[in-house]
Order: sequence, then structure tokens, then C-alpha cells
Amino acid sequence: MDPIVALMQQVVDDVSDDDSGSPASYIPELATVDPDRLAFAVVGPRGIVRSVGDDEVEFTIQSISKPFVLAHVLSRQGLDAVMKRVGTEPSGEPFNAISLEEGTGRPENPMVNAGAIATTGMVEGADVAERTRRILETLSAFAGRELRVDESVYRSESTTGDRNRALGHLMRSYGIVDAPVDVALETYFRQCSILVTVRDLSVMASTLAFGGVNPVTGERVASERVARDVLSIMSSCGMYDFSGEWLLRVGLPAKSGVSGGVLAVAPSQFGVAAFSPRLDRHGNSVRGQAIVATMSDRMGMHLLEPHESISQPIVDITETPEGRVIRLSGELGFAAAERVLAVLRDLAVATPSGSTISLDARELARSHPAALVALKVELDGLPASITLLE
Ligand code: GLN
Repeated sequence: MDPIVALMQQVVDDVSDDDSGSPASYIPELATVDPDRLAFAVVGPRGIVRSVGDDEVEFTIQSISKPFVLAHVLSRQGLDAVMKRVGTEPSGEPFNAISLEEGTGRPENPMVNAGAIATTGMVEGADVAERTRRILETLSAFAGRELRVDESVYRSESTTGDRNRALGHLMRSYGIVDAPVDVALETYFRQCSILVTVRDLSVMASTLAFGGVNPVTGERVASERVARDVLSIMSSCGMYDFSGEWLLRVGLPAKSGVSGGVLAVAPSQFGVAAFSPRLDRHGNSVRGQAIVATMSDRMGMHLLEPHESISQPIVDITETPEGRVIRLSGELGFAAAERVLAVLRDLAVATPSGSTISLDARELARSHPAALVALKVELDGLPASITLLE
């Protein structure tokens, strides 16, 4: 067995006995799910989807749609336009809380229901069908497969969605929602009722992990900045009133939904997703969270722990008749510039006077502007003449 799949199976086996919590029942159709379903999927940089458990079972995406609809409106209308209508502060309140900022009527963030209804209200289109089509297109591009709406879950949500409608009316009274309330709300209910598998969610997560490029299809779905903005908001707000403790213990931007899905993102490394319908009191999947937490721990994915290789370029030194050539490739981050300088210093000291060193930075896939500036400033102080090619 593939060693990563074996590791994943081990993680799933370790959490499978926990039957605490219960599936959401306030949307009647969600209560009909088999509560024992359990699935886990991971996608790395080469776009290989690995999954274990009930990985072919479809369930509705629910709140996990929120970061992707946010990406949609950020891409089209920009951060400032979005922030006029919704804040970016963790709410510390349940996902369906009726609470808006005093004075402005802005919801706290786009990951709770009020904020998501505000962002869904920004999706352009003449009617519910056109707005839903735009959302489906975006989510399908993130997933790398054509997604569709589960009509019976949609009807169930719409029939029982008065609390969300109340939020919509309140926000329209403040001018946060421009669209007619029924258009914004029915679009929101349809967006929550889009069917996905755990494999779809892992691909969607990985598209955010790799700066907006879907690693399976190779398609750029969002800009690097939009992916970064979405991940920032997921980090502080993605797990509702458990977001702070989640960041502390697991250390990954994540998003959960009431049907039992959860996805998490290790930037530049992995997108992961889990599915298990029993929820805790915050509305987050009990075993889904345990899977992601265990995986983060075993693979050292916590964002805030130190990593030796962050932004470390590959340094290749060759001797040519014209002198020494030092080629940098990969990525040059700020901290790594220090280490490149240390190598250059040693070389400069050991270089006989009269011979030259050239530093070729043209093959760097990515360099952070401040890193290159720091490097240039220091080059002048070295005891040998170094030519920088950039
Ligand atoms: N459709 C659900 C609702 O609006 C989504 C909530 C969630 O997944 N937390 O209540």
C-alpha cells in the first residue's frame, strides 16, 4: 500500500470508534444521513488525490461553500468592496447568530451565516438561476469536476430557513444586501446544497494551498492574493466559535459545514478534507476535526512551527574559465537571503584576488523583493567583486 494511504488509514482507524455528537437535524433532510460515514482525502503538490473510507459518498457542502463564494466575489469586486459589506473579525458566536456591527449593520465575517449571505448577495446575475450558475462554475473549477445542487436538501433548507431569511431582511435594511432578500437567500440555500465528495473537498482545499491553481487540472482558479485573503479569514474565523482553539491546537486554516465535512489547508504542502456527520456543540464534525488534527500533528503541518526549508533557494556553484558562478533557483525568502550571504562571504574570503564571482538570480522561480534588496546591499560590503545577474 502507498505509505501515505497507509498513514491516512491509520489516522481514520484511530478515530473511528468515537461516536459522540449527532448529525444536524435543524435542516430535516440532513438528519436522514448515515451517521457512521467516515472519509478522508489528501492532495499534495503534484495533484494526486489519495483517499480512504467512504470517499465516493456525496453530501451537501453547506458552509464549506462560504470561502469559495468569498473567493468569487473577491476576484470580481476586490477586497475593499467586500469589506464594505462584511467584516473580518472572529465572531466568537455560533454560526447562525443574529448579530451585526452596531451602526453599519455589517456581519462579523464571511464564514458565519450572516456574512455568507452578504457575500452571496454580491454575486452578480439577473436571477437565482444565473447567480447559482456562477457559483457552481466557481466551485466546480476549484473541485476540478462539474458539481450540481441536491434539490431535496435545497427544498428542505428553504422550507426551514426563516432564521437565515431574518438575517437577510435585517441586512437589507442596512443596505448590506442589495439584492432582493428572496434572491439572495434562495441562492444561498442552493449554494449550501451543492453535492461534493471528500475527494472534491480535498481538491478545493489544495487549490487554496497552491495559491489558487488547482493542482489536478492545472487551471488557475483564483489569484494568489485572493487565495491568501481567503485563507487568512479561514484561519481566524473558519471554525466558528472554536476558531481560536483550532488555530492553537491544529494550526491550519480550515472550514467546516453542518453536513459533517471539514477541509484544511497547509499552504504549499497539502489540501486535506474529512467527512463524518456527527457534530459537536459548535456545529463542527467530531471525527472530521480529529482526523485533521491528528494528520497535522503527525505530519508537522502546524503553520506556526519552524520549518528549515522555508523559502530556501537551491545554491549551485560552478567553476568556469571566467570565474565562479553561483546559481540560485527555487525561492529566495528574506531569512534565506541571510544564509546565501553567509555562503558568499565564505567564498569571497577564499577567492584569490583578481578572480570574479557572479551570482545568477535569473532562475529564481520566486524571490521576495525585500530579500533581493537585502542581498544587494550586503554584496557591496564583501571582500571580492560579485556581479549580480537578475
Ligand atoms: N445551510 C446551513 C445554514 O445556513 C449552513 C450552516 C453550516 O454549515 N454551518 O444554516
